[in-house]
Amino acid sequence: MVKHGIDMRTMTYDVCIIGAGPGGLRAAWECAQNSLATIILDKKKAVGLPVHCGECLSAAAVQNTGLDLPAEVIAKRVRGVRLIFPDDSARKIIESGYVLNKDKFEQWLAHKAFQKGCLIRLNNEVCNLKCKDDRWELGMRSGDCYCAKIVIDASGVHSVVNKRLRLNSPYKTIVGLQYTVEGIDSDSWLDFYLWPHLAPDGYLWVIPKDKRCANVGLITSHPSGLKEKLNRFISQLGVKKFRITRTCGGRIPVSGPLAATFANRLLIIGDAAGFTSPIFKGGTHLALKSGCLAASVAINALKNNDFSSKSFSCYQSLWKQHFPNYDALLKGRRFLNSFTESQLNMLARYMPDNVETFSTIQKGRTGLAILFTSPGLLMRGGPQVMKAFELSRARWYGW
Ligand SMILES: Cc1cc2nc3c(=O)[nH]c(=O)nc-3n(C[C@H](O)[C@H](O)[C@H](O)COP(=O)(O)OP(=O)(O)OC[C@H]3O[C@@H](n4cnc5c(N)ncnc54)[C@H](O)[C@@H]3O)c2cc1C
Repeated sequence: MVKHGIDMRTMTYDVCIIGAGPGGLRAAWECAQNSLATIILDKKKAVGLPVHCGECLSAAAVQNTGLDLPAEVIAKRVRGVRLIFPDDSARKIIESGYVLNKDKFEQWLAHKAFQKGCLIRLNNEVCNLKCKDDRWELGMRSGDCYCAKIVIDASGVHSVVNKRLRLNSPYKTIVGLQYTVEGIDSDSWLDFYLWPHLAPDGYLWVIPKDKRCANVGLITSHPSGLKEKLNRFISQLGVKKFRITRTCGGRIPVSGPLAATFANRLLIIGDAAGFTSPIFKGGTHLALKSGCLAASVAINALKNNDFSSKSFSCYQSLWKQHFPNYDALLKGRRFLNSFTESQLNMLARYMPDNVETFSTIQKGRTGLAILFTSPGLLMRGGPQVMKAFELSRARWYGW
């Protein structure tokens, strides 16, 4: 741990990032590129592994977060999202994107950060944090200690800052399970199935990866019998012969952003801050973007030698400017979760074939049609649900 005569554990870094997921790595790259002494700590043994993700990322996300993806991180190009309702009717959100090799994607981000001078320490679990005057002290499970002027918490849904510092009340989470399956036919669409009999308060997906290979998964608030539900889903898709090559799963925060995403010399990003899409539950786009925003706040604080609360509160204002209207999204999600299968089918009838081209005039006509033919759907929040789908497009960080 001694490099060029300096003990890396006792030096004070400008920025210490906890967690080498997409959010932490993007923040690290940005900080190191701006000449900050940056270290990233992760408890895992290898960046990107194990994969716990459906691996899709929109082209809008790639552009919005300043990435130029190399070919090896892309498993497949896709045309957008196809929403499939209980009666099998489909509605499209045409927005191109990628299915990634997420492990390679995260390793590429790590390489970029490393090339800019960021130190990456794996196998290092942060167990304690203490803010002492002008710096944070981070205690490792191994007993080592690292110091930094600013900490960025990118430690995901089981955030060490949320656990240790209790700045906020805990968020709600739901649980996901996914198989990578060989022997399944798919095309160039991300198929999202709104089938509450198998995935109440969530949905199921088929995300094509390669020839006859796809990520098939579900996310739901009902954690019992996940495997049985996923197996039933695969058999309902008519797939008879298949081979599971990978199983993964995890929790996703679903109650929206934390009330306080910053504190004294501290910024919280990605899943740790509760930044996921309320409808589609993805969080990679939001993690990457909040990583960029947090890095810009840290860079300014160090450049101006301004570590005041006002300097860090900019972060909260910044993400509120960029991210979607969470109140509208969470309201729409509540209504959506209360829909029966027949109400979902009815909703599909009023949705345009392509959600992306739903003009204001069409919306007005649809509102009137619902009012005269299905007033019940109006009462049950049909328009709010449609609004939430609209706000879940890639440009609004939906995926
Ligand atoms: C089944 C499933 C499928 C999903 N599919 C998609 C999808 O297709 N598209 C999408 O956009 N999103 C998807 N998501 C969500 C997506 O994976 C997350 O939103 C995203 O990874 C969040 O990135 P992050 O950098 O905030 O956190 P994470 O990727 O969770 O990274 C956190 C890192 O912190 C490390 N860490 C945690 N605690 C400590 C500690 N105490 N000390 C040191 N290190 C620590 C962890 O090891 C980890 O490497 C899915 C999630 C699940 C569970």
